Amino acid sequence: MYRAGWMDCHTPEELSGVGMTSQRTRNRMVERLMAAGIRQPRVLEALAEAPRHLFLDEALAHRAYEDTSLPLGLGQTLSQPWVVARMSELIVQAAPERVLEIGTGSGYQTLILARLVARVWSVERIAALQNRARQRLARLGAGNVRLRHADGGLGWPQAAPFDAILLTACASQLPQALLEQLKDGGVLIAPLADSDGRQWLTRVRRRGQAFDHQRLEEVRFVPLLEGVIR
Ligand code: SAH
Repeated sequence: MYRAGWMDCHTPEELSGVGMTSQRTRNRMVERLMAAGIRQPRVLEALAEAPRHLFLDEALAHRAYEDTSLPLGLGQTLSQPWVVARMSELIVQAAPERVLEIGTGSGYQTLILARLVARVWSVERIAALQNRARQRLARLGAGNVRLRHADGGLGWPQAAPFDAILLTACASQLPQALLEQLKDGGVLIAPLADSDGRQWLTRVRRRGQAFDHQRLEEVRFVPLLEGVIR
């Protein structure tokens, strides 16, 4: 259904891109990700298929398949493909069905999640970004995604609990609401800042009321902020 959606709403040329946005360029990006240690076949496949160039302003589309973060507008950034792949790999390892994402941004990571799990809920605090992401995801036929314009620090109580939660903005302390909305045995993946302001990709596992933190790679994300922008 998902692939049919792509074909319904975009011309094959738009989808596959040309030149710097071509399938060949995308495949080279995936080869670089493999060389950089990404192994999960489903994640690699999702990144090989997802048209990242459609998540950027036209002026930046030619850089879509470089392994670099790129500006989304409104001071936010689209994470570099390696980081998206790594976080997706950590999510897939937990084999979740229901995933909550905080920080929809462009919707690119949301699209990758939609390819990997049964249902995705994603929250964004900036209305303009959320609207654009909604249009893109609808055009790409991602029917298993629900989007909301809200403060993601409050989670999505009506859809909780979640098997996994992914934050794509950096917190120094995890919002209590998110921990409460994680299923027992569930996994939360987030960039967390230490007291020196360095950010670490962190895997948090819930066991009853205990939350085990495992620090992984050093990363760089925009901050998780409170409130919404209309
Ligand atoms: N995953 C995104 C990356 C976006 S950058 C992508 O693939 O494009 C992080 C995003 O988190 C920004 O859009 C920012 O507005 C959003 N954000 C920050 N704090 C938030 C909060 N409390 N609730 C929801 N979104 C938040």
